[in-house]
Amino acid sequence: MTEQNAIADYLKYTGKKSFNFTTALIDMDGVLFDSMKNHTRAWVKLMKKNGIKCTRDEFYMYEGMTGRDIIKMKFKNGAGKNVTDDEAQALYKVKTRYFTELGDVDVIPGTLEVLKALKEAGIKCVLVTGSGTHAMLDRIDTEYPEIFDEQRVTAADVKRGKPNPEPYLKAMAKINAQPNECIVLENAPLGVQAGHTAGCFTVGVTTGPIPEKDMYKAGADMVYKDMATMLEALPQLMEAFKNA
Ligand code: MG
Repeated sequence: MTEQNAIADYLKYTGKKSFNFTTALIDMDGVLFDSMKNHTRAWVKLMKKNGIKCTRDEFYMYEGMTGRDIIKMKFKNGAGKNVTDDEAQALYKVKTRYFTELGDVDVIPGTLEVLKALKEAGIKCVLVTGSGTHAMLDRIDTEYPEIFDEQRVTAADVKRGKPNPEPYLKAMAKINAQPNECIVLENAPLGVQAGHTAGCFTVGVTTGPIPEKDMYKAGADMVYKDMATMLEALPQLMEAFKNA
C-alpha cells in the first residue's frame, strides 16, 4: 500500500472530494507510552486473583474498551457473574494499583520525532485517550514538550470506550475540525475502528504484538510497523495529502 493509494481509497470510501490535513489526533497507550505490557500484566493478575482464566495477549485486543466493560465481560464469560457498576469500579481500582506497582513506563521509541515533524509541518496535535491514568497523563508535557494542543480528550470526557467513535468525535467537536482534516494515530484494532468510524484517515502503528493485518481489518488506511518507519514515510504521506 502506498500513501497515495491509501488516500485515494480513503476519499473513495468516504465520498469526500478532498483532504485538507490540519490535525493529528493522537492516542496515548501504546503510541506515546509503552504501557500496554504493564496494563496486560495488571489485567492478568486481577483476573487470576478472581479465579478467571485468561491469556495476556487477549488484553492487547481489548485495548480501548473501558476498564468497566472489560471487567463486566470477563466476569460474565469467565465466571458467569454479573458485576454491578460499583463492583466494576472497585475492581478497576485494584487493577490500576497493580499497574502503578509495576513502575513507570517508557516512551515509545520514535514517537516524539514523528510528532515534532508533524508540528514543524504546521499540524495541530491533539491528545485523544479514554484513559484517566494520571501516572501517564501527568508526564505528557515533560516527555512531549510543546507538542500537544491545550484541548485534550481523556477519561473525563468520554462515556463510551473505543471502538465507539465518541472520543474522536468529541475531539473534533472541541477543536472544530472535520474528519477530512484529521488523521488518527493508533496502535490497537479497537482504536483504529473508532478512528475509522469517526471518518478520519486512520494510521495504525504496530508497537505491540498485534499483527498488521488486524489493523487493516479494523479499518486502518495505512499501517506502519514502528515509529521509525512512519517517520521515514512522513514526507511521502505529507506530499500525498497535499495532492489529495
Ligand atoms: Mg492505544
